[in-house]
Amino acid sequence: MAKKNVDRRAFLKGAALAALAPAAQAAPAAGHWDREADVVVVGSGASGLPASIIAKENGASVILVEANRDIGGHAALSSGNIPLGGGTKAQKDAGIVDSPDILFKDLTDWSVVEPNGAADYRFNDRDIVRAFADNNGFAYDFVVSHGVVFTTPVPNFMGMNAAGLSAPRSMHAAVMAWPQIQTGRAVAPAVQKTIPGGIGIVRPLEAAARKAGVQILLEHRMTSVIRDHNNTGRVVGIAVETNGDRLNIHARKGVILCTGGHSGNVHFRRIFDPRLTEEYCGVAGEPYTFQDASGEIAAMAVGAALWGSANQSGEFGIAITRAGYIGCQYGYPSMFPTWQPASEYFHLVRATGLKVQDYQNAIHVNQVGLRFYNEMMTRFPGARAKYEPESWRNAAHMGWNPDDYLPAAMGLNGGTGNGGGPIWAIFDAEAVKRENWTVEPPYVDRKAGFFFSGDTIAELAANISKNKYQKNPMPAQALQNTVARYNSFVEAGTDADFDKPSPKYKIQTPPFYAAWATPVLHDSRAGLRVNPRNQVQDFNGEVIPGLYCAGESAGGFSEHGIARCIVGGLIAGRSAAAEEV
Ligand SMILES: Cc1cc2nc3c(=O)[nH]c(=O)nc-3n(C[C@H](O)[C@H](O)[C@H](O)COP(=O)(O)OP(=O)(O)OC[C@H]3O[C@@H](n4cnc5c(N)ncnc54)[C@H](O)[C@@H]3O)c2cc1C
Repeated sequence: MAKKNVDRRAFLKGAALAALAPAAQAAPAAGHWDREADVVVVGSGASGLPASIIAKENGASVILVEANRDIGGHAALSSGNIPLGGGTKAQKDAGIVDSPDILFKDLTDWSVVEPNGAADYRFNDRDIVRAFADNNGFAYDFVVSHGVVFTTPVPNFMGMNAAGLSAPRSMHAAVMAWPQIQTGRAVAPAVQKTIPGGIGIVRPLEAAARKAGVQILLEHRMTSVIRDHNNTGRVVGIAVETNGDRLNIHARKGVILCTGGHSGNVHFRRIFDPRLTEEYCGVAGEPYTFQDASGEIAAMAVGAALWGSANQSGEFGIAITRAGYIGCQYGYPSMFPTWQPASEYFHLVRATGLKVQDYQNAIHVNQVGLRFYNEMMTRFPGARAKYEPESWRNAAHMGWNPDDYLPAAMGLNGGTGNGGGPIWAIFDAEAVKRENWTVEPPYVDRKAGFFFSGDTIAELAANISKNKYQKNPMPAQALQNTVARYNSFVEAGTDADFDKPSPKYKIQTPPFYAAWATPVLHDSRAGLRVNPRNQVQDFNGEVIPGLYCAGESAGGFSEHGIARCIVGGLIAGRSAAAEEV
C-alpha cells in the first residue's frame, strides 16, 4: 500500500499495541486520500457497530476501521447485560411502568448516593441524558431487529449498574452459537439461548453491518483526525496505520469516534485520578482490545474539549474494583467466563487466575507487607433498601458502608509514589489444598511476575520484589511480622486489627505463595465534550463540524456500559448520515 502524504510525526513508533500510550499527534494535511466514504467510524464495539449500521441504513456509504484483528471491542467480552428502559417493548409487554421522563429523572437524580459517598448521577449533563432517555425505546427495537436475541423476555435488575432505580430495565443478550472470545468455544446447544454474553450482541450486529454494506477494515488503527484549514474547518477524515503502512481515509460527511475510552492509558487516566499509576495494569476487557485514549487524544489535537470529568474521579460503582481472579494480570471479577487456554488471545493473557472461594484462606498485603482491611469483605452492595426520587433521604437509606476496601488498597503505599502499589494475596500450601488450586501455569502467571512462591516468608518477600510494579522491595521483616501477627489472631480467634470474623487458618506450611490481587480498572466515564447529537465540541462549546463521538470515549454521562454506548452510537450515526455538505 502506498505511503501517502501523511506526517510521520503523527504516528507512534515501535511500541506493541499492548503498550500503546498515544502521544498528542500532529494532524496530517488533508487532500491525499487512499479511501473515502460519507461516514468513517472508528472502533467496532458497542457504539461503533450501531453507528455504522444506522449511518448506512440512512443512505451514507460507511467505512468502519478497527485496530484489532476482530470486531467487538470490550462489548464482545462483556456479560451482555443491556439496561435499556424508558418504556421499551419488553417493559410494556411485561407490564413494567417506565417512560423517557422517568428514565431521565433517574439518571439525573442528584440524591442517589453509593455507600462510599459517590453520587452516581449528580454530575451528568442534562442535555445528553435527555437525548439518551428519548432514544432508549428506539435502541431496544434496533438491537432486536438487527438480530440480538435475549435470554428472557422480561427485564430485570441484573447487571444494572448506574442505570436508574425506578424500574427493571436490564435485558441479557444470549450467546447463541458464537464461540466466545475468552474461551475460544461456543457453549453447549442446550444453553445457547439462556447464557448471556456480549458476543451475542456484537456478532449479530457485525452480520447486520456487513449485510447492509458497511466496509469493515480490521487491523486499521486510527492515528489522527484530519481537520481542514489548520484545525479551524471541518473534520474531513482520518489517518490510519495498517501493517506498517499509513493511509488517509476521507470522510465526506463525518468521522465518528467510538474508540472505547481511556482506562488503559496511564497518563490520560491520571488527568482524572493521580493515584492510577502503572500498577493498575489489569484493565477489564484488555488485552482483547485497549482503552488507550487514542480517540480522545486525536480529537483534542484538533481542538476538542473534555467533559464531565467529575464522573471519572468519583469511585463510582465498578470503575475501580477488587480483583476477582488472583495470580494473573487480568483479574476482572465478573469476567464470565474467565480466560481459557483455548482462546486465541490466551498467549496475551497468559493465565486464567485463581478464584478465591473463601478468604479465610488468604490475607491481602500492600507493597510494604502490611494488611489493610478485613479480607472477608466484598465490594459494597449496590442495592438500595428504599428509593424515593430526588429525596435527600436516599443517602440515609443507603448509609455509609465501610466495607469498601479501595481507598485503603490505593492509599497505603508505604509513603512512596502516588498509587497504592501492588496488592498481594498471601497464603500457604495448606490453603492451596483447601481451595483445590493448581499453582502452576496456565492457572497462575509466574513468568511475568504475577505469582511467586518461597520456602520461607523471607524468600517469598525477596521474590515479590522482582515484580516490576513493586516501587520498593517488599520488606521481609514487615511481611514476616504481618504473617506472625495474623497467626496470633487465628490462635486468639479474633482479628484485633481489622475485625476479620474468627480468622481460621494460620499461614505456616511451606511453600508460601503471593498472588497478584491489585484492583482492576473498568469504565471510562468522562471523555470528549459532545452535544445531544453526539457532535464533538471545542473549548468554546462550538461544534467541530464533521466530528462525532459515542461510547466510553464520550463525556458528560456517568452510566456503566453498553446502553449508553448503543444509544450514543445510533444518535451519532444518524446525525452524521444526515449532514449536508
Ligand atoms: C468483562 C466486561 C464485562 C462487561 N459487562 C457489561 C455488561 O454486562 N453490561 C454493560 O452494559 N456493559 C458491560 N461492560 C462494559 C461495556 O462492554 C463497554 O462499556 C462497552 O463495550 C463500551 O463500548 P465502546 O463502543 O465505547 O467501546 P468498545 O466496545 O470497547 O469498542 C471500542 C473499539 O474501538 C477500537 N479502537 C480503539 N482505538 C482505536 C483506534 N485508534 N483505531 C481503530 N480502532 C480503535 C477497539 O479496538 C475496540 O474494538 C463490560 C465490559 C467488560 C470489559
